[in-house]
Amino acid sequence: MSVPLTETTDGLNGDVPSDVLGVGFGPANLALAIAVEEDDPELSVHFLEGRQDPLWQGGMMLDGSNIQNHPSRDLVTLRNPRSRYSFLNYLFEEKRLLEHLNVAAEFPLRKEYAQYINWATQQFGDRVELGERAVAVEVEEYRGEPVYAVTTDRGVRRTGRSLVLGPGRTPYVPEPFDALTSPRVIHLTRYLYQLRSLTAAPARIAVIGGSQSAVELTLDLSRRFPDARVVDLVRSFSLRLKDTSPFSEEGYFPAFTQYYYGTDRAGKRELDAYMRATNYSSADDDVLKELYLRIYEQRLDGDQKVFVQGNRQVVAAHDDGTEVALRIRETHTGEITEESFDLVVLATGFRDIGPQPHQEPYPPLLAGVIDRFRFDEDGYLLVNPDYSLVSDHPGTPPLFLNGLCESSHGIGDAGSFSLLSLRAEVISNGARSRIGAALTAPAVPVP
Ligand SMILES: Cc1cc2nc3c(=O)[nH]c(=O)nc-3n(C[C@H](O)[C@H](O)[C@H](O)COP(=O)(O)OP(=O)(O)OC[C@H]3O[C@@H](n4cnc5c(N)ncnc54)[C@H](O)[C@@H]3O)c2cc1C
Repeated sequence: MSVPLTETTDGLNGDVPSDVLGVGFGPANLALAIAVEEDDPELSVHFLEGRQDPLWQGGMMLDGSNIQNHPSRDLVTLRNPRSRYSFLNYLFEEKRLLEHLNVAAEFPLRKEYAQYINWATQQFGDRVELGERAVAVEVEEYRGEPVYAVTTDRGVRRTGRSLVLGPGRTPYVPEPFDALTSPRVIHLTRYLYQLRSLTAAPARIAVIGGSQSAVELTLDLSRRFPDARVVDLVRSFSLRLKDTSPFSEEGYFPAFTQYYYGTDRAGKRELDAYMRATNYSSADDDVLKELYLRIYEQRLDGDQKVFVQGNRQVVAAHDDGTEVALRIRETHTGEITEESFDLVVLATGFRDIGPQPHQEPYPPLLAGVIDRFRFDEDGYLLVNPDYSLVSDHPGTPPLFLNGLCESSHGIGDAGSFSLLSLRAEVISNGARSRIGAALTAPAVPVP
């Protein structure tokens, strides 16, 4: 479908709305920028990125940590294997291809993948404003056309005929930590940044959670602070192996996304329960074995410093200004113990979109426009197959969620790289076909 595009190619998006205004320039919106450049270059795009110097998962750039996706499930390859923005082409251009292929590792280092993403990001400098954190979204009129206006923390205001939110997921800080403000309690996303501000090496450290990140953090902390007592507190029995069955991994195929989208909420819950161990509260074989061996060796030496304590729930936390005291309940016996720590790292994951207590009903940035959009009877935000939100409010321009749609589209949309490039294509096609349609059609059909 041919729609009138904005007459500007002004990358700075002065007063003229861009066709696509994006919030966040992590891998999700970067993949979108590439898809538009390669497949739909007539669309004008402009992105606002909160960080001055974005580094993919910079808070967790741990020595030796690797990525959890096949390296070719990158920013582009599933959509366009001939793209110059592939991981392989990055290695080629950096003159490291042969050397990289010679590394005896199944998955690349996280550091190397971050450098790849950074390399791709650098090539979009004319379409991204760095250091501009979006703080408000409104709808306003531009020459009689409804557009989104996004304001940043530095007072910059940018407009777009469509909006694509790709801010990543909101960190999940569970009870009782959500009520605690303490420099000694940090979510994993802040881990390395916060460590830099420590004035003394912590002697007692707790890691909360049983995820891949929890295991990586426990290993990293015990390497970094070899004299410290490091305790991983896990709510379930212990640390579980991730489900990497190739059959289960088909949950990260586009066909599963379609299937999941079409099932009712009860079906989605069942599928979520099955898929959970492919991504959540579980860890890869390599880090589990490394941690087990480390603990075993410490016991052999009669000097155990690292502990994994299962069936433990933290029920209270208090910071007295020098340390954090945790009240810990054994989930089956009910026994309560108390232990104090110099540092507590929360490997407690992220919020998904939804009505449950561990979810958030909608991305907080949408507070100013959320009454334009519809929720289903269970309280879930209604999302179209192309990731746009369903609106029955006349004059609402298209608004897409990029990387936030696990509750409508399933595990492939749990923020990972798995389907990033294909989703970018769906969103860029969606933006192309919905711009203009928003001017004439007030209501979008409910799926
Ligand atoms: C430690 C860790 C390791 C991971 N490893 C893997 C892996 O190996 N493989 C995999 O597939 N997935 C992995 N993931 C999942 C991860 O979510 C994806 O890799 C990827 O980062 C998702 O990209 P994104 O663009 O959706 O979000 P993000 O990477 O979070 O990027 C969002 C961007 O938006 C910016 N932003 C946020 N809010 C605003 C705002 N209001 N205004 C402007 N800018 C804003 C942020 O600064 C950020 O740059 C990992 C996650 C973590 C936490």
